[in-house]
Amino acid sequence: MRKIEFQTIVDAAKELCARSASDLPADMERALAAARAREISPAGAEILDALLENARVARDEKRPICQDTGVAVFFIEKGAEAVVAGGTLTDAVNEGVRRGYEEAFLRKSIVRGPLDRVNTKDNTPAVIHLEEVPGDRISIRFMAKGGGCENMSRLAMLTPADGREGVIRFVVGAVDAAGANPCPPIVVGVGMGGTFEVAALLAKKSLFREIGSPNPDSALDSLEREILERINDLGIGPQGMGGAATALAVHVLSHPCHIASLPVAVNIECHAHRSAEVVL
Ligand code: SF4
Repeated sequence: MRKIEFQTIVDAAKELCARSASDLPADMERALAAARAREISPAGAEILDALLENARVARDEKRPICQDTGVAVFFIEKGAEAVVAGGTLTDAVNEGVRRGYEEAFLRKSIVRGPLDRVNTKDNTPAVIHLEEVPGDRISIRFMAKGGGCENMSRLAMLTPADGREGVIRFVVGAVDAAGANPCPPIVVGVGMGGTFEVAALLAKKSLFREIGSPNPDSALDSLEREILERINDLGIGPQGMGGAATALAVHVLSHPCHIASLPVAVNIECHAHRSAEVVL
């Protein structure tokens, strides 16, 4: 077994939170620049210029890309031959979030209960999805998920008879209903199949794929292209000001499902795509 110290994980989680708050990933920046080059609406083009400038200033001055510094979401793959020494993985990640949000002066956005609304004051607990994989490494993928775009998530238990067209209509309808709320241009994560909860998880997980990369499954790739085209035909545009760039990409992950089911979930990511990864 390979030992990975508790503190190593704390430091990694802290660094991911702090760095991603001000450092927009290169794939997102490229996608915004490409959308700017294509944008035909003057208002949309102006917004895209402002978003690109915002990303540059945030990186140069180490300031948050957005005031909503999000809920800390982690997808962790833990090798079966890796062991955390000195504590649990969950405690280490939460400690890293606590320190990262404090030391980088990020807004604490988590309340302890949905009804009493008392702020936990350290942005914990993080949302942690843990999967065991072969090997002796621990891969930690982080996303700071803003409330505005997360609130626009939708899930439907379609029937098999709804088929491909039903899926497209549901996803495009969810984006249409969201309008300017998720701060477009957006990336649309779609989870298809599995069960109620698996579809939602896949929708979020799909947002980690490199923006602009093709889906390795050709049928899903074609589905993504069609959904993207129909979303951008809506004309919502950057920040809802009208234009061609409503979505930069659609990412679909699918999973086997029950003969009677066709679950579909939509998880929308805003232009402030705070995401980073480390492998220990
Ligand atoms: S949706 Fe994204 S860009 Fe809009 S306020 Fe929330 S975090 Fe910021």
